Amino acid sequence: AIQVEDLHKSFGSLEVLKGVSLNARKGDVVAIIGGSGSGKSTMLRCINFLETPTSGKITIDGEQIEMNADGSPANRRQIERIRTRLAMVFQQFNLWTHRTLLENVIEVPVHVLKVSRAEAIAQARVLLDRVGLGDKADTFPAYLSGGQQQRAAIARALAVDPNVMLFDEPTSALDPELVGEVLTVIRDLAAEGRTMLLVTHEMKFAREVANHVVYLFEGRIEEQGPPAEVFGNPQSARLKQFLSSVA
Ligand code: ATP
Ligand code: MG
Repeated sequence: AIQVEDLHKSFGSLEVLKGVSLNARKGDVVAIIGGSGSGKSTMLRCINFLETPTSGKITIDGEQIEMNADGSPANRRQIERIRTRLAMVFQQFNLWTHRTLLENVIEVPVHVLKVSRAEAIAQARVLLDRVGLGDKADTFPAYLSGGQQQRAAIARALAVDPNVMLFDEPTSALDPELVGEVLTVIRDLAAEGRTMLLVTHEMKFAREVANHVVYLFEGRIEEQGPPAEVFGNPQSARLKQFLSSVA
């Protein structure tokens, strides 16, 4: 579970997040939608401290992240520990290009979680199988399609058995014909009851998999609610306009 309370983030004089609060219980799939520059990626990046919040409170599985007055993490070890329960999947896959898929998937279990190499390899094979890449374990990312690379990135994220998964537009770098295979994998993870925050521009998919939808506008939550409400009966004029622009 994740709780975010009054999260602010500025880059210099640019205030990107202006007090965002969000609550995802275990098993929730929260879709985050909004226009370019509205702060979606910044919000996800603050949640796992890839970006330092300016202020606010973040609680992961009941454990509040200790922050200094300036928002910086007060306890590096805590961040490292919490990161092992969170996994993030990026738009651009971010696989290590000079390593095979198997090596990509075992990296964090072996070097951070100190799982034995043999055990990590066995588990990685299961995960690669699961995302349909069982026969590509020894292949380098450059030889794969975008959809395959993104599925490998999801297998790598799963290798820490995360309680919470953060997806930042996982399909927006893909050719249209490859989107479906990645969404299928994410849909299965949602059905498994993993807690997820999913930034997406795939509105149909958000409507289908999410149980809560958050619409960000210029760093604030403009509207949120169950997908049937947010998509079917939007209240805010900005949301209506946004939905008609992406339809
Ligand atoms: P998109 O849909 O295009 O991915 P987004 O909603 O994810 O947009 P963010 O990437 O969170 O938007 O960016 C929000 C604002 O913050 C933008 O104006 C962006 O230029 C700015 N921004 C993001 N990262 C930085 C940074 N490291 N330094 C300065 N400004 C930044
Ligand atoms: Mg973004």
